[in-house]
Amino acid sequence: MSPAKISPVQIARRGLMLVISSPSGAGKSTIARTLLETDKHIGLSVSVTTRQRRPSEVEGVHYHFKTVREFERLRDSDALLEWAEVHGNFYGTPREPVEQAMSEGRDMLFDIDWQGAQQLQQKMQADVVSIFVLPPTMTELQSRLHRRAEDSEEVIQTRLANSRAEIAHWREYDYVIINDDLNAAFDAVQSIVKAERLRRDRRHGMFDFVRELLEETPVL
Ligand code: 5GP
Repeated sequence: MSPAKISPVQIARRGLMLVISSPSGAGKSTIARTLLETDKHIGLSVSVTTRQRRPSEVEGVHYHFKTVREFERLRDSDALLEWAEVHGNFYGTPREPVEQAMSEGRDMLFDIDWQGAQQLQQKMQADVVSIFVLPPTMTELQSRLHRRAEDSEEVIQTRLANSRAEIAHWREYDYVIINDDLNAAFDAVQSIVKAERLRRDRRHGMFDFVRELLEETPVL
């Protein structure tokens, strides 16, 4: 009998749906961006939103910016996997790119709020791994929102007021990270991704690998 033909690194597995939520300013977007830059096996789910584009944002990269009418059309035609109203604007996850990625075994990252996380957990259960990022203190959260300086004072105040409601959902997540040090928080996220990719129930290709492994006769 010849040695096993399936390389351990090629073992097929289901794609991972990595959901990261946090109140605005807790550092979730920085963690998400760093993960996308360092891990080429994970893609970003680009949401649609009715929010105004910030000066630093690029259409199609950070969001697909839509009018309320366009958003409603997408939502009503079932083109969104989940959607929610957050801070007075609509946000939603386009369905098609996610289904495509999952069927090809590619991992996807979702920067969405607790309402979206709940909907994905209900619909996709085993494929979803969820992480909640907490700020070290509420004072730090407030100063991060001001430091970002991309929103008006009114918007910052709305986001701060909403942050307590967002934090109240922390227990619905698989993992919780306190972001008092960005490098440590990012390390934690990387560890979670690494471990979740190795989960037995996600690696359907393992059946073939083990079958071949057991059929192999060691060559001395
Ligand atoms: P921001 O306006 O700061 O980009 O996002 C505001 C909030 O909306 C963040 O908590 C972000 O995670 C969330 N969000 C962004 N896209 C989506 C989405 O497609 N669905 C849901 N449910 N929340 C989203």
